Amino acid sequence: MKYQKPKGTNDILPGNVEKWQYVENTAREVFRLYDFHELRTPMFEHIEVISRAVGDTTDIVTKEMYDFHDKGDRHITLRPEGTAPLVRSYVENKLFGPEHQNPFKAFYIGPMFRYERPQSGRMRQFHQIGMEVLGSRNPATDVECILLALDFYKRLGVTHTKLVINSLGNRESRMVYRQALIDYLEPLSDQLSEDSKNRLHNNPLRVLDSKDEKDKEIVAKAPSILDFLDEDSAQFFNSVKKLLDDTNVDYVIDHRMVRGLDYYNHTVFEIMSEAPGFNGAITTICAGGRYDGLVKEFNGPDSHDAGFGFALGLERALITMEAEGITIDTTPSVDVYVVGLGDEVSAESLKLVQAARAAGFVSERDYMNRKVKTQFKTADKLNAKWVLIMGDNELAEKSVKIKTMATGVERLVPLTDIYQDFNKELNK
Ligand code: ATP
Ligand code: MG
Repeated sequence: MKYQKPKGTNDILPGNVEKWQYVENTAREVFRLYDFHELRTPMFEHIEVISRAVGDTTDIVTKEMYDFHDKGDRHITLRPEGTAPLVRSYVENKLFGPEHQNPFKAFYIGPMFRYERPQSGRMRQFHQIGMEVLGSRNPATDVECILLALDFYKRLGVTHTKLVINSLGNRESRMVYRQALIDYLEPLSDQLSEDSKNRLHNNPLRVLDSKDEKDKEIVAKAPSILDFLDEDSAQFFNSVKKLLDDTNVDYVIDHRMVRGLDYYNHTVFEIMSEAPGFNGAITTICAGGRYDGLVKEFNGPDSHDAGFGFALGLERALITMEAEGITIDTTPSVDVYVVGLGDEVSAESLKLVQAARAAGFVSERDYMNRKVKTQFKTADKLNAKWVLIMGDNELAEKSVKIKTMATGVERLVPLTDIYQDFNKELNK
């Protein structure tokens, strides 16, 4: 048997993982600036946590879950997204209590699992960076979160982005719109795709999201949700737009944009990549919105019921960077390479690398007793700043030869001196 990784997964290898770390670190820096704290939830949850929050009729719940019964017959699913688990954790751990940050601002970085048809930018195990703000009904929260996402891409050097926003209104106005949409679609239902026909009655807003060409034509003439916002909802959306205008953020409004998860209301947004050569049909790199009511679904308190969050794909962030020609340095580098000559010196080589590491220098050595020339080649490949040469002669003299690679200068230094102060001896 040939052992292979499961379809739709990736090994992230050294040489490439540095790019991932760079993106993750950038996200952590941005979250820090906005005073967000990391919250880590399990990779798997009771299935109800997801199905309840995300919606029983969504693609995620109906088609994409990695669920199973464990040995105790519990119905478990690998997490397909981060919001429901985080809200579950918020309520379960009573993070709305007076000793906690309020509004509560948390972020996560980690793998998500969806049984999808794999293609570039669409994996079965993929990785999201996401955030949630719980307990703020202020439209400034919506805007700050959107700005945070834009800041993140800006810091990565990604510039070809487009912000798209919409409002789904509150529950009441959405119900009115839902009926209007059904009334419009029903006479056309025999022209709709099978998926959309099924959605027409249980989740008609999702028809707006259909990728089917014929559906798209029909949807183009559908009534706009923005015409159905009640006064409160319209006012909220106006505030969001005004704050975006005030901060000079470019955006477009797409009244047909709904999100794939059921829990959203009021503001929804997506960030698309417009980089030439970006990934064909898939252009959304970040998506999120407001989900007032979700905390209550998890039996949390009314007073902390407001929520806003987004998730962005790490894979898609990396593809975007590539499309925009942004590279990050992944050349290997060490500070110290110990060249050891002969069997006798191996113990001293070990002491040297350990002492160098203890002093904070990235250190490597030879383990195979290779020829001097080969060892120097390795040191070059690793871009070592200093090579420490330890041969029988040096050992006999209780010394080590330090070669500063930038200048080629060599010095013989007593071992007692270098063990006493590595930093001083290297930088002499
Ligand atoms: P799509 O329409 O592309 O299927 P979605 O609406 O299912 O996206 P969300 O659940 O909102 O996506 O997830 C937010 C972000 O997570 C997406 O914008 C994307 O960057 C990323 N993402 C979602 N699903 C995948 C996947 N299967 N593989 C890689 N990235 C993904
Ligand atoms: Mg999807």
